[in-house]
Amino acid sequence: MSRLGGEKVEVLLSEAQLAARIAELGARISADYAGQPLTLVGVLKGSFMFLADLARAIDLPLKVDFIGTTSYQGTKSSGVVRITNDLSRPIDGEHILLVEDIVDTGLTMQYLLENLATRHPASVKVCALLEKPARAKVQVPIAYKGFSIPDEFVIGYGLDWDGRFRNLPFLGVVKP
Ligand code: 5GP
Ligand code: MG
Ligand code: MG
Repeated sequence: MSRLGGEKVEVLLSEAQLAARIAELGARISADYAGQPLTLVGVLKGSFMFLADLARAIDLPLKVDFIGTTSYQGTKSSGVVRITNDLSRPIDGEHILLVEDIVDTGLTMQYLLENLATRHPASVKVCALLEKPARAKVQVPIAYKGFSIPDEFVIGYGLDWDGRFRNLPFLGVVKP
């Protein structure tokens, strides 16, 4: 039994495609934040693999923290965002880059941008590996975006389907 667990999965973005784009994002972030203290805030759990690769593509001194949210049950968003794990320390005066796996309806990022703004950071921007523009309910500014993808439920590279498939090294779609 492989990590696919017997499911048929079609590759949407290969390891090489992901790595090339993340190298570009890392170079842009390194240039834009040069000379400024940067804190990456990974949105758990889906961003853990992206954050690990992105952090290594950024050639700056930086800090890493995590925030946990949930809004999903299975493959459907409940629309109600909750913080399940908060940041480990205050962020006042810090430049924050929220690192997210995918902006779908945009509700999670909208909630987090509003929530973090109340803690008086120097700035908050969003870096999202993926965006599904067809599903947007609110417009969220994504300063650094990896890819726009079609309206399909994707898995792998940190993203799950009911907890499974996060350890695929590529981004895929489950086929019936
Ligand atoms: P939102 O709808 O609030 O923008 O999306 C919130 C979260 O839903 C994302 O951060 C991600 O964890 C999850 N999500 C949205 N679309 C997908 C998808 O296609 N696949 C997976 N595995 N999770 C998704
Ligand atoms: Mg997420
Ligand atoms: Mg999920």
